[in-house]
Amino acid sequence: MLDRIRIVLIGTSHPGNIGGTARAMHNMGLSDLALVAPRCEPLTADTVSRASGADHVVHAARRVETLEEAVTDCTLVVGASARSRTLPWPMTTPRALAESLPAELAESAARVALVFGREDSGLSNSELQRCHAHVTIPANPDFSSLNLATAVQVLAYECRLAWLAREEMGDEAPSEAPRPEPLANHQELEHYFAHLERTLITIGFYDPARPRQLMARLRRLILRSRPERMELNILRGILTATEQETHRRSEP
Ligand code: SAH
Repeated sequence: MLDRIRIVLIGTSHPGNIGGTARAMHNMGLSDLALVAPRCEPLTADTVSRASGADHVVHAARRVETLEEAVTDCTLVVGASARSRTLPWPMTTPRALAESLPAELAESAARVALVFGREDSGLSNSELQRCHAHVTIPANPDFSSLNLATAVQVLAYECRLAWLAREEMGDEAPSEAPRPEPLANHQELEHYFAHLERTLITIGFYDPARPRQLMARLRRLILRSRPERMELNILRGILTATEQETHRRSEP
């Protein structure tokens, strides 16, 4: 289970936080790290010093330019955020999230990404809207923003506790039957959203000049429903048929 949980850091500006994250991950048995557009050199003396022997996690980390690339194969993407946003999104706590992971990861193709934001500005609205849910560490409301590596530590610890609980149950652990149909992954969902947006513009339902959070609301609806790949293919088929019919009617 732990090998299918990816920690994603976006726009990190302090190498020490990358080292601290590597240490937190290795302590808790996680190894899959992705660095999205870091705003510092990820491997410095500071990184190695804060990693205290876990810098191999940083050496092995994938470095990419966008969140999409970091989570393309993930079937569940959860953004860590201390702040609530204007458009409410499904919220969870570290414990509830971790306890859901054994079932979430029952299928071998399932992958979970935990996404962390910049030290100065956190995650952008657009990044948060690419997540299925948001996880908030219930800290002091008057001082709720943790250090980046510390936030990773809290989530990684909860993942480990949930994994240990499952291990201790041994044969008595409830057996999670794999889903009959696989869930759509991030890339498939993003292709669907792009197709949906194009079609809504074509049929005149959506005007990007007056967005009114329409696409964000549709994203929230679809992401909340956790569609299977097969279901998403049906929805894309409807869009294709709509585009073809619109094209046919517009021909002289
Ligand atoms: N100043 C930023 C917070 C940066 S802390 C802001 O106001 O948004 C860096 C990252 O650590 C955050 O983007 C988030 O991913 C994580 N983090 C910090 N405190 C958190 C909390 N209480 N709950 C969940 N994630 C938290």
